Amino acid sequence: MQIEKCNKPTKCDFLGCNNLADYSFSTKGILKRELAFCKECLNGMYQEIAKLQTPKATSSPFKPKPRIKK
Ligand SMILES: [Zn+2]
Repeated sequence: MQIEKCNKPTKCDFLGCNNLADYSFSTKGILKRELAFCKECLNGMYQEIAKLQTPKATSSPFKPKPRIKK
């Protein structure tokens, strides 16, 4: 998986976002198609991921289980 610069004019895949996508998330067939997103949504995702990676509210010594399937 890797994030690539989106060179085709594609609409951002995020619901409610009308920007053009700046990046695409290449999954090499894991998803049916590549996920395209704009800088704003990338930033939003990053903030959410950062929250997951560094939980500050809890002091649990246990690592949260990774989600296997939705
Ligand atoms: Zn967007």
